[in-house]
Amino acid sequence: MENYFANVAVIGGGAAGLVCAVTCAQKDKNRKVIIIEKEQRVGKKILATGNGRCNLTNMKASPENYHGSFQKGVENLLKEIPPSEVLRFFENIGLFWKEEDEGRVYPYSNQASSVLDVLRLALDRLGVEEKCGCAVKSISKRGNKFSVVCDGCTVTAEKVVVCTGGKASEKLGSDGSGLKFLKEMGHTITPLYPSLVPVSVKNPYMKSLKGIRCMGEVSLADEKGKIVKREQGEIQFGEKALSGICVFNLSSYVGEIKKPRIYLNLFPEYDFNTLVDLLFKRRKMLSENTLEDFFTGMLHKRIGFVVLKDVLSKNLSQKVGNLTKTDIKQIAQTLTKWEFDCTVNMNFSSAQVTKGGVSGKEIDPYTMESKKVKGLYICGEAADVDGDCGGYNLQFAFSSGIMAGRMV
Ligand SMILES: Cc1cc2nc3c(=O)[nH]c(=O)nc-3n(C[C@H](O)[C@H](O)[C@H](O)COP(=O)(O)OP(=O)(O)OC[C@H]3O[C@@H](n4cnc5c(N)ncnc54)[C@H](O)[C@@H]3O)c2cc1C
Repeated sequence: MENYFANVAVIGGGAAGLVCAVTCAQKDKNRKVIIIEKEQRVGKKILATGNGRCNLTNMKASPENYHGSFQKGVENLLKEIPPSEVLRFFENIGLFWKEEDEGRVYPYSNQASSVLDVLRLALDRLGVEEKCGCAVKSISKRGNKFSVVCDGCTVTAEKVVVCTGGKASEKLGSDGSGLKFLKEMGHTITPLYPSLVPVSVKNPYMKSLKGIRCMGEVSLADEKGKIVKREQGEIQFGEKALSGICVFNLSSYVGEIKKPRIYLNLFPEYDFNTLVDLLFKRRKMLSENTLEDFFTGMLHKRIGFVVLKDVLSKNLSQKVGNLTKTDIKQIAQTLTKWEFDCTVNMNFSSAQVTKGGVSGKEIDPYTMESKKVKGLYICGEAADVDGDCGGYNLQFAFSSGIMAGRMV
């Protein structure tokens, strides 16, 4: 078993770990900094972010975009290291970037690989050692030194920064093993759920709706119908699940409520009575047409068919003029409050982010140091914080990594 020494051992060469190692080495070039990464190369997940474009931050990031017990800590972190500071870090190591809609920031090249490449170049320049293909099994502390036991080697380190992520997208490296050894070291791990993930729904019409994308409002409600979270945007219908950014943003709440259900409003810009009036006008205008054309020009054709034929059991060859007042109201009701029962999707492999992690009460938000183990720092998704879709999760990974890199 080989033995190595490092002043600082960064465990996990993902978004948080790479930025932390660069910051740490920039601060003091004489310190030996090692990154220990279980995959054969660092930054696999970065390459997959933003559909290969890497939405690296969001200029509008605020604490409300984050959830979990470290949310208060995020408030401090965003004050100390806001998106502009993360971008300054990247500019200083050679990245060109641009801001797009809704504050989303991407590399100017539109390639996630640019983000990883500038980080690796910086690590190389600064003499940071990367130990890849080296999974950490356990960490222990004796006196003021840590012993990091990996597959095939042991690293003795003065300081350790754990940046092993959560459990989302295991094939990209984060398999939850970091949370296991953090628990063994005395940390509390809050319950884990997949976040930014499609929401599984039980609805007999999903097969017919599969593949459709439309704009609308999605509300997640509990068994009493109380709305827990509401979002607007593009809704995508899969065979057994709803997805799209607005659905992703409420996905992590599904596991927390009893008998969760989703209401879709396909006409959020119209109030109910206005929509009813418009449907009555339509009934008059198209009275001699069949129901096949009732929604022409108004709604995705297949959605229209499902609403009339499957939800309201209408025969599409019936004349529009035969729709009753009750029919019109039922149609408006379905279009504005279409109910889908949902089930918790525990599929971490299709999730972008993990909800849950090391309790926020056990991490100092001014340093990212563990309050349980002195000299141990916890960054990125390993902490109990998950962000909305739109660059917020990388912003957290980067700002927490920079913070720990400065303080370690
Ligand atoms: C497909 C996809 C697209 C995404 N797109 C975006 C986006 O555009 N914008 C955005 O803000 N967020 C996005 N995210 C979320 C974002 O990528 C994560 O929140 C972020 O990468 C978390 O950073 P991290 O460093 O904490 O963890 P990770 O990036 O997961 O890195 C953890 C690293 O630790 C290593 N590791 C784990 N266990 C061990 C161990 N025992 N020993 C050694 N090494 C270990 C892993 O191999 C991995 O390299 C996306 C996520 C996915 C899956």
